[in-house]
Amino acid sequence: MQEKGTISVNTENIFPIIKKFLYSDHEIFLRELVSNAVDASLKLQRLASIGEFAGELGELKVRVSIDKEAKTITVSDNGVGMTAEEIKKYINQIAFSGATEFIEKYKDKSDGKDIIGHFGMGFYSAFMVAHRVNISTQSYQPNTEPALWSCDGSTEFSIEKTTKEGRGTDIVLHVAEDSEEFLEASRLRGILRKYARFLPITVELEGEVINSIAPIWTKTPSELKDEDYQTFYKELYPNSPEPLFWIHLNVDYPFNLTGILYFPQIASNHDLYREKIQLYSRQVFITDEVKDVVPDFLMLLHGVIDSPDIPLNVSRSFLQADGNVKKINGYITKKVADKLSDIFKADRAEFEKKWENIGMFIKYGYLADDKFQEKAKAFCLLQNTENQYFTFDEYREKVQTLQTDKNQNVTFLYTNDAQKQNTYIQSAKKTGYDVLVLDHPMIDQHFISSLERHLEKTQLKRVDSDTVDKLIDTGVEQASVLSEAETTKLKEMVEKVLDNKNLTVEIKSLPTDELPIVITFPEFMRRMQEMAKTQGFAAFMNPNPQLNVGINANHALTQKILQLSDETQQHLLIKQAYDLALLSQNMLGGEALTKFIERSVVMIGV
Ligand code: ADP
Ligand code: MG
Repeated sequence: MQEKGTISVNTENIFPIIKKFLYSDHEIFLRELVSNAVDASLKLQRLASIGEFAGELGELKVRVSIDKEAKTITVSDNGVGMTAEEIKKYINQIAFSGATEFIEKYKDKSDGKDIIGHFGMGFYSAFMVAHRVNISTQSYQPNTEPALWSCDGSTEFSIEKTTKEGRGTDIVLHVAEDSEEFLEASRLRGILRKYARFLPITVELEGEVINSIAPIWTKTPSELKDEDYQTFYKELYPNSPEPLFWIHLNVDYPFNLTGILYFPQIASNHDLYREKIQLYSRQVFITDEVKDVVPDFLMLLHGVIDSPDIPLNVSRSFLQADGNVKKINGYITKKVADKLSDIFKADRAEFEKKWENIGMFIKYGYLADDKFQEKAKAFCLLQNTENQYFTFDEYREKVQTLQTDKNQNVTFLYTNDAQKQNTYIQSAKKTGYDVLVLDHPMIDQHFISSLERHLEKTQLKRVDSDTVDKLIDTGVEQASVLSEAETTKLKEMVEKVLDNKNLTVEIKSLPTDELPIVITFPEFMRRMQEMAKTQGFAAFMNPNPQLNVGINANHALTQKILQLSDETQQHLLIKQAYDLALLSQNMLGGEALTKFIERSVVMIGV
């Protein structure tokens, strides 16, 4: 006898909503049905383990099969099954989750922790791709009859007695015309590989096993060897070079989270900026868009995070505000900081070796996250032009004797391009100064400002921002060999020859082995320009920038210029020395370069 009834939906007809609006991603119907089949299997396993099921468990398995002729997809399991009464209760009432009820009921006897349970519309997502769905099911409970439920996507359903071999459930989807792509095995394989790859019950597609049922993140770290982590990494990212190290996440309270995060080699990896962390919920793949769950500065990490406590069906902005998500974010940050600190303390040499790869993370984290910064202060490294590494404290200690100015400020000198600024670096070194390399185009500019804010009585200066005598202003003036009259005369002459209002000419008492003319770009002006540049102001491309032109009073050439009686000769030498200064700053080009070369050829005098 057939019984008819109406599916109870509290509001208006919900099916058109399911079909059209709820999920843009129709493929997730398979995730839902397979999750339910896995749940049905896990429930039976659980019942057996607490003595509520005495029968033969057999091999629990979820089978997905396609019948192209009949245009059906079937998802079968040999789990708990349902009686007709249970179908009415669990299937006919949308939004009534049997999973929640099961966990409630057995929470004293077992934790029920791994039951997957609800994702959004669950079972009804089948109607995204099917014009009719049949459920044929036999409960594990003795003396019950198999039942057949059928529904065509309207709110009408039928339920009747049926015959079914063995315990469990077959969900049969009669695939709708616009969804026939899902009748292709390759399409289903793709979907299952994505969502079901690590489910805890074997899933087969037409006889082919899809998943590995015990991925390593579900185990405890003490069960695992380095090799296991490396093998798992290779499985996830076959094309990436070996990871540098990894962090096994494992927490029960106040939220549940497991997972493994890998630090990839970034220096030699070209395939970086794709989303590489996968988010799971009880071993079901959810997404590889983990923004908001993982702190921004760790987005370049690889690996897997599994947490049932991340809300799955809320909008992104809501996710950001979610309390658990915030805590998870904080937890991951702390774990990463602790791991880095451990490596730093245990093996400094190894840590330095990895700096090329991890330095960017650490600096980014230092900038982005106060809590991380607090810990990173101890292990964030500064690298100098000799490839030596120092912590902030060590570095201050190293340079403070020679690099403290008259106001007791310590100056850290740096280069952002050791090639281009080589002349300046050499001058600084000759004076006994040390020069840091801070050359990351995106991060170091911010890192420098942050260092100045956080380190006491410390400033940073680019090595070419002033002549070497003024890089560290000790207040001690070096004696000039020129008289006051000579100084004035020289200054006027140079100003006349260079004839450029944007140049500030100064006569300086520099070491004799410095260049006769040294061009510098004051630190604060450069920072203003860089700021303008990052904010996209057109004005930053100033073809005629404000520069300081330092004339080295102590250089032999300067003496010679003063002594010459021929004005043409004097002007020639000034131009030549000025061009050499530009050249050493990589600033000579175009017509000026052509003229310089012509003039040089004449001067060689061949
Ligand atoms: P949820 O999984 O969140 O409970 P679903 O809509 O996916 O919600 O499923 C509703 C309920 O239907 C399940 O909780 C379960 O009781 C029942 N159910 C669905 N599929 C199966 C199945 N393959 N075997 C046994 N029961 C099932
Ligand atoms: Mg479900």
